[in-house]
Amino acid sequence: MELDLWWLLLFPAFFGLGWFAARVDMRTVLKQAKSVPTSYFRGLDALVEDKTDVAAQALAEVARQQGAALELQHILGKLYRKRGENDRAIRLHQQMLDSSDLPGEQRDQVRNELAQDFRKAGLVDRAEEILLKLLDGNMGLAARRQLLDIYQQDRDWQKAIETARELRSDAHSFQHEVAQFYCELAQGELYKSSYAQARQYVAEAIAANRKCVRASLILGDIEFAEGNADAAIAAWQGIEKQNYEYLAMAAERLFDAYEKQGRPLEGIALLRGYQRTFPQLELTDLLYQKIATYEGEAKALEGVREAVYARPSLAGVYRMIEAQMDELSPEGRMDAEVARALILKHSQRLSVHRCKCCNFRSRAFFWHCPACGEWESFTANRSEA
Ligand SMILES: [Zn+2]
Repeated sequence: MELDLWWLLLFPAFFGLGWFAARVDMRTVLKQAKSVPTSYFRGLDALVEDKTDVAAQALAEVARQQGAALELQHILGKLYRKRGENDRAIRLHQQMLDSSDLPGEQRDQVRNELAQDFRKAGLVDRAEEILLKLLDGNMGLAARRQLLDIYQQDRDWQKAIETARELRSDAHSFQHEVAQFYCELAQGELYKSSYAQARQYVAEAIAANRKCVRASLILGDIEFAEGNADAAIAAWQGIEKQNYEYLAMAAERLFDAYEKQGRPLEGIALLRGYQRTFPQLELTDLLYQKIATYEGEAKALEGVREAVYARPSLAGVYRMIEAQMDELSPEGRMDAEVARALILKHSQRLSVHRCKCCNFRSRAFFWHCPACGEWESFTANRSEA
C-alpha cells in the first residue's frame, strides 16, 4: 500500500517534465526564427509585392551574410535572370561552379541554369555547348527540352526532329511537333522547287502524324507546281477526312486548280458543298467573288444570303449590303454606306484566329504560336467571338 502511494507522487513530476520539454522546444523555435536575418523576410515581402529589384538586393544581402546558402543563390540567380540582369546571373552561376563547396550532384543543375542565362543574353551557342554536355547526367531531360527550344528558334529542323524523338514519352509523343518540323523542311524545299525532296519530307510528316493537315496542303502545292492538277485536288480534298476545320485554307487553291483545268463551275460546286456541310468555314467572301465572276451578281448575292441565314456573321452581312448597294436610292445608299463601314470596322477588329493554349489573338494564321511556342494551336477559322 505504501509503495502505491509513492508511485502517485511521480505524476506531478511527469507533468513538470512535459512542461519543461515544451518550453525548451519553444525556445529552440524562437532562437531559429531569430537567426533568420530580417533581410530574408524583406526579400520575401518584396517578391510578393512584385518588387523584384528590392527582392534581389535584400536576398543578395542574406546570401552574403549566410555564406554558402546554396538554395538562396539558386533563387537569386533566377531572380537576376527574370529581371534581365543576365550578366549578374551568369557571374553568380559561374562563381557557384568555381566554388569547391558546391556538391557534385548540384553542379549539373547550376550548369543548366547557366545555359538559360546565356540563352536569355542571346549567347545561344554557349548555351548549346553547355547543354550538350548535360545530356547523360541527371539534368538530361531539362537540357534536351532547352535544346529543342533552341533548335526551333534557330529553325534547325533536323536537330529538332532528333531531339523531339529522344524526348518522346508516354505522356508526350511529340508526333505533332515532329510532323510540323518535317513540314517546315518540306516547305523550304518547295520554295527552292526541289520537289522530290519536298515529297520525301511530306511523307515523313504523314508517317509521324497521318492527320497532319499542313502536310496535305504542301503535298497539293507540290502536285500543282508539277502540273498534276488532279493529284493536287485529291491532296487538298483529303483534308476533309483529316480535319475539316482547315478546309477553308485549301479553298482558294482548290478553286484555282479547277479553274486551270477549265472547270471553274465544278470548283464553285465543291466549295458550295463545303459551305453547306460546314457553315463555320470562312468561304463566304471567296465564293461571292467566284460566283459573281462565273455566274453573275444575282447568284452571288443569293449565295451570300443563304450563308448568312445559315450562320450570321459580320463579314457575311458586309457582303450582303455591298451586293445590294446599286439597287438603293441615293439616300438609302448613304445610310447603307454608314452601316457597311461600321460593320467592316467591327468585323476586322473581332474576326481573329486564337491560340487555344495561350489565347493569343491575331488576324494572321500561324502554325507555330508566336506567343507560347505551341504548334497547331491556332483556330483554323477566324471567329467573331
Ligand atoms: Zn499560344
